[in-house]
Amino acid sequence: MRKKQSNRADSKSSKQLNKKTKKPKQEKQYTHAQMKKKVDEWCSKYVRWLAADEDGFARCYTCGKEDHVSKLQAGHFASRRYMNTRWDHESNIRTQCVSCNLYAQGEQWVFGQALDKEQPGKSSEVMLRSKQPKKFTMQDLRVMYEWYKARCEEISLVKNVRIKKA
Ligand SMILES: [Zn+2]
Repeated sequence: MRKKQSNRADSKSSKQLNKKTKKPKQEKQYTHAQMKKKVDEWCSKYVRWLAADEDGFARCYTCGKEDHVSKLQAGHFASRRYMNTRWDHESNIRTQCVSCNLYAQGEQWVFGQALDKEQPGKSSEVMLRSKQPKKFTMQDLRVMYEWYKARCEEISLVKNVRIKKA
């Protein structure tokens, strides 16, 4: 690839523009990336806690191993890198054990089979939908974060799911 020659006048004016539009320092707020992490965290809790029995135990979606939800993970069928289905807890995220989720690439084939058992054609529907581009605003993220947190608080009243903070 050939490098495009930079235009001095252009780069100078864009520098000035950047200076002008720079925001004044404000109190510390979450960045978009930090907020995404918070939604991930509470979405994971929501999926696992919802799947738990009242003692806080659930089964791995792909191998059936039972454990306390604090030792299980929330696994994605279509990769988390696809934003459109990243927080689709209804169709794309299920409770999984660490070995299925981390060491077996999420057991994607088994995962898909199980989804299709829930509802025929679900796995391909999720796969197709995952590829559609999607952007979340800070406000979108905040709304989801608060929704997941509120649901988790409700669940924690009736199930043994409180994760002790170290
Ligand atoms: Zn498993």
